[in-house]
Order: sequence, then structure tokens, then C-alpha cells
Amino acid sequence: MAMTIIDEICFQCNACIFVCPREAISEVTNAKGQILVMIDTSICTECEGEGDPKCRSECPVPECIVSATTYISAIGFC
Ligand code: SF4
Ligand code: SF4
Repeated sequence: MAMTIIDEICFQCNACIFVCPREAISEVTNAKGQILVMIDTSICTECEGEGDPKCRSECPVPECIVSATTYISAIGFC
């Protein structure tokens, strides 16, 4: 159970980074030198037991942070 960020619509405002109680969100630089905000799915718990996912509630972009399971299913990797 983890959330993921849709890179194409994230504008790197970093708001989500500061509300994560697990420190699961950080800025990373990909192979192309682009800075992306990413959720470590090995750490994220979807805020289980703490209400709605705090990162998703904080994000100003609708549907920018979604369930990783739902997203991976939607793009056809499993
Ligand atoms: S769902 Fe909760 S634990 Fe997971 S990245 Fe968002 S704020 Fe952090
Ligand atoms: S709050 Fe939303 S738009 Fe801002 S960095 Fe996080 S995912 Fe991207």
C-alpha cells in the first residue's frame, strides 16, 4: 500500500514533502537531470490509521497523487 506522484502534472511545489509523517517524499534527480518529487513506496503507508493520505490532501493539483497500485494497473504494468 503506497501512493505515487504523477510526474507529468506535478509542478514540484514541495508542499507534500513537509506533511508526510514518514518522510517518504523527497526530491530526486533522474538520469536526464530533471528534478522530480517522488514517494518511496517502500516507506509510504498511505497514512494508514491516520486518516486520508496527507500528501494527497495537501497537493494543489487534483489527481496528482494517487494509489500506486491503481496507477500501475492503469498503465498496464501488472
Ligand atoms: S500517503 Fe502518507 S505516508 Fe504516504 S507519502 Fe503520503 S503522507 Fe507520506
Ligand atoms: S504537492 Fe503535488 S504538485 Fe506539489 S510537489 Fe507534491 S505532488 Fe507535486
